[in-house]
Amino acid sequence: MTNTFALLCFFMHLLAYANLLGYYETKMQIDELEFINCQNVLNAIERDLFEPSRAQIAKHVGLSRTAISLIANKLINAELIKELDKKTKGIGRPGTPLAIDDTSWHAIGATFYSGAWVFVIVNLLGNIFKTHHVSVFSTEQDVLTEKLIEGLEYMRSICPKKMLPGFGIGAPGLVDHVSGSVLRADDLGWKEILPLKTIVEQRTGLPVFIINRYRANGLAEIRYGNHKKFPNIIYIGIGTGIAGSIYLDNKLLNTTNYRIGHIVIDPHGPLCGCGQKGCLQAMASEGALLMFARSQLEKNPAFLSKTHGKTLTGKLIAKLALDGDPDARLCLEHISAPLAIGVSTLANVIAPNEIIIGGPIGDASTYLVDCVRKRVKEYLLDWQNEEIIISQGTQGKYGSAIGAATFMLEHKLELVMDGYCHD
Ligand SMILES: [Zn+2]
Repeated sequence: MTNTFALLCFFMHLLAYANLLGYYETKMQIDELEFINCQNVLNAIERDLFEPSRAQIAKHVGLSRTAISLIANKLINAELIKELDKKTKGIGRPGTPLAIDDTSWHAIGATFYSGAWVFVIVNLLGNIFKTHHVSVFSTEQDVLTEKLIEGLEYMRSICPKKMLPGFGIGAPGLVDHVSGSVLRADDLGWKEILPLKTIVEQRTGLPVFIINRYRANGLAEIRYGNHKKFPNIIYIGIGTGIAGSIYLDNKLLNTTNYRIGHIVIDPHGPLCGCGQKGCLQAMASEGALLMFARSQLEKNPAFLSKTHGKTLTGKLIAKLALDGDPDARLCLEHISAPLAIGVSTLANVIAPNEIIIGGPIGDASTYLVDCVRKRVKEYLLDWQNEEIIISQGTQGKYGSAIGAATFMLEHKLELVMDGYCHD
């Protein structure tokens, strides 16, 4: 009798445990589903529709009006979206337009750009609230990492409003998109792996989102630059290195393995830091531009005479070329040839709607972009010639840091909903 009772108790416990498991499983599924629905509504407001009403969102994402109202209230309470004044145009009851809340949450982004860490605090629309700039006169990994952490802590201390709990970082070199480590940075001579995400997370206690600095710049350019909303865009950033990003069907292709700067342009060309010969980076980065300028100066002491007595930089050459200086123009024409081969190769493979040439040198040099545009025409088929737009980057020195912050902003829903929130 006692044994039967014990057995009954055991089965009842087992049943209760199974129910409990089932409950948690169902709860987890509902939470995940709810998160996906919230994300879809946020995307609709942020990207797909312009100041939509709840009814328009319901139609767009395929959920009921009641469900959208519940989700919208949650997002309003989380201060991710806000209601605008009611629209009075059209027939019927006016809907209340919804938009991203640009008054509450702020994000911190940092990037290593033109020899300095550049920091920004932006709102949810990527508008700059505060900036900070720290020149770094070293390329040592330890020095760069320390300066970064100091700057991030400073920005955190001056963030005047709600800060999204995390940091977006634009790093030099090849960034492993899973671990957030910098695998190598040829232009800085980094051959050792730098586990940047792990270090910064341990030191600051906040989640860190790392992306290559030029890829970050491309993100800002495509999100906030004055470009048509094309689905397929390639961004090439030119500075001390060359890197870029590919957008297919409006989505950033963010894997580690594609490296636009290391397309081989000339197998007999100059040695690249990666070990190959004739990479785009070795032939068309700021280093290649300055090397050509110096080689001309050796042949002709009067070459680039307007730069004498000043520090020779890519930006200075770009400025002189815009003013019509023939020597500066010759230097940019020199790097435009390999760039045009790189651009047209990408165009032939991917057939994007637009290719943007940015980064510190691209943003600064209209003449370079004009040269590339002319040369690329020689390598493209007729139909591509008419359809592919080659344009210049517009984001300037803060673009990459804004892009790094934007990369983190893509995770704002999980950051806010995860209970990390603090005022
Ligand atoms: Zn290379």
